[in-house]
Amino acid sequence: MWRSTSCLRLSAAGKRTTTTISEGSLARRSKIEHWSHSRAISTTSAPEVVRGHASSRQASGAAAVKLKPLPSGTSDQHGAVARTDVPTSRIDDRKVVVGWDTQTWSRYHHIWLRDHCRCPQCFHPVTKQRLVNTFEIPFDVKPVAVESKPEGLEVTWPSSQPHTSFYPWSWLRRNSYDPPLARPPPVEKILWGTKILQDPPTVTYEQVMAEDERGLFKWLSNVDKFGFCFVSGVPPTPEATEELSRRIGFIRETQYGTFWDFTSDLAKGDTAYTTLALGAHTDTTYYTDPCGLQLFHLLEHTGGSGGATLLVDGFYVASILKELHPTAYDLLAGVRVPSHAAGEPSALYTPTPRSGYPILRHSHSDGELTQVRWNNDDRSVMSNLEPSMVEEWYDAIRKWHKLLTSADSEYWIQLSPGTAVVVDNHRVLHGRSAFTGKRRMCGAYIGVDEYRSKLAVLSEKFAPDDVVRDTSAYASVNGRSLWNPAL
Ligand SMILES: [Zn+2]
Repeated sequence: MWRSTSCLRLSAAGKRTTTTISEGSLARRSKIEHWSHSRAISTTSAPEVVRGHASSRQASGAAAVKLKPLPSGTSDQHGAVARTDVPTSRIDDRKVVVGWDTQTWSRYHHIWLRDHCRCPQCFHPVTKQRLVNTFEIPFDVKPVAVESKPEGLEVTWPSSQPHTSFYPWSWLRRNSYDPPLARPPPVEKILWGTKILQDPPTVTYEQVMAEDERGLFKWLSNVDKFGFCFVSGVPPTPEATEELSRRIGFIRETQYGTFWDFTSDLAKGDTAYTTLALGAHTDTTYYTDPCGLQLFHLLEHTGGSGGATLLVDGFYVASILKELHPTAYDLLAGVRVPSHAAGEPSALYTPTPRSGYPILRHSHSDGELTQVRWNNDDRSVMSNLEPSMVEEWYDAIRKWHKLLTSADSEYWIQLSPGTAVVVDNHRVLHGRSAFTGKRRMCGAYIGVDEYRSKLAVLSEKFAPDDVVRDTSAYASVNGRSLWNPAL
C-alpha cells in the first residue's frame, strides 16, 4: 500500500492523513490510511477574545522603554462594545482560575503568575530577560484582586509598593499547564518518496537573496516541511555559494573547514573525498550535536560520468518501518549507536556520551521523531548491546537499510552547476553514485540552532502565530512581542 504513495503529510497529531498536497503541483493524494501516532492532540480551539475597552495598564518603571497602550475599545458594527467573550477569572486558595468557556478552565499557581510578570520591573523589555527576583517572591504569595480585561488578565499583588501584572489571554491559554490545553500544530512535515522528483521544492537564487527576506522564508519553510530544498540560478562560484549559505546563518566550522570547496583528491581522510559511491547517510553522526543543515553545490564535473546525488527522507522511511516492523523501529529508537571520525591524524571525534545516540531520536515531550542519525560506515564497536539483542538488532538495521535503499524511497538527481541544495541533516539522508572525471563540490554546514533561529525570526515577520498577532500591537519592543511564545 505504501509503495503507491509519493508524499505523505504528517499532521500535528502525528497522523499521516489522506490529504491533498498544496505545495506546488504536488497535488496528489496519498492513499495511506489514517495512522495513529503516539499522542492525540485535542483540537479544542481558543475562544475568540473580543477586544474591548482600553486598559488602564501603563508601562513604567525601571526600563526606559515605552510600550504602546492597549488598543482602545473596538465597537462592533452596531456600535456596542462586545465584551461577552472575555474569559472569567477568580482567585482560589493557591491558584487563579480562568474560565475560557462554560466547560474549560485553566488554573495558574499564584507563585507561577507572579514569577511570569512581564511588567518592565519584572522583565526587561529590550533584552527579554527576567528581572524579577524569583527567590524574593513569598512562597505563599496571593493576589488581592484579579480582573478580566478585554485583552487579558490583570492581577494585583499585595505589596507595600502596589504591583499589578497583566497577562494576555492568548498567552495564558497557550501556556496553560493545569490542564495542558491544545497547542497550535507545528508546521506540518511532508514526507516524501521517490516521486518527489516530479516536483521537488525549489526556490530561485534571486528570491533567496532578495532584501525583503520573503524568498528566504520560503526557502527555509520548504526545508522545514520537506527536509530539503533546491536553489536554482546560483552563480556557479564558491563565492556566490558561500554568500547563499550565510543568508541562513553562521557557517559551522568543522575539521573539513568553514566553507569547503573540494575534489576527489582525498585531501581529508573521508570517503567524501574519493570517487567511491556513498550510500544514504547523515553527516557528522560522530558529533554530540550533528550539523543541522548541509548546503552543497556542484561547481564542475568534467571528463567523466556518474556522481548522481541521492536524497532519502529519513522520516518517511522511519514511518514505513514503524508501520511494517514496529519492533525493529523500537530497537532503532532505543539502542545507542557509537560512532567516530578518525581519518585525520590530528582529530579523533566521538560523541558524548561515548555510547552515542539512537538512530531514531524522539522528543521527550510528545514522542515525535525529531532526528535521524545514520552512517553505517562511521559506526564504532557495538559493545553495549545486550547479548540477547544482538541478532535482533542486526535484523532491525537490515530492515531499515532495505527500506532506505528501496526504489520507493530513493530520489536520484544529477545535479549541475547552478543548482545548490540545502538538506536538513537531522532528517534527510544523502549519498551519491560513483563517478569518474573531475568533480568539484563546494558547500557548508550550518548549525541547527542558527537555522531554527533564522526560521523563527522570519516566521515572526511573515507568519506570526496567534499570541504574537494578538500582542505585538501593544507589547513589541525592538520588533519582538514580550509575549512571543518562544520566551
Ligand atoms: Zn511585575
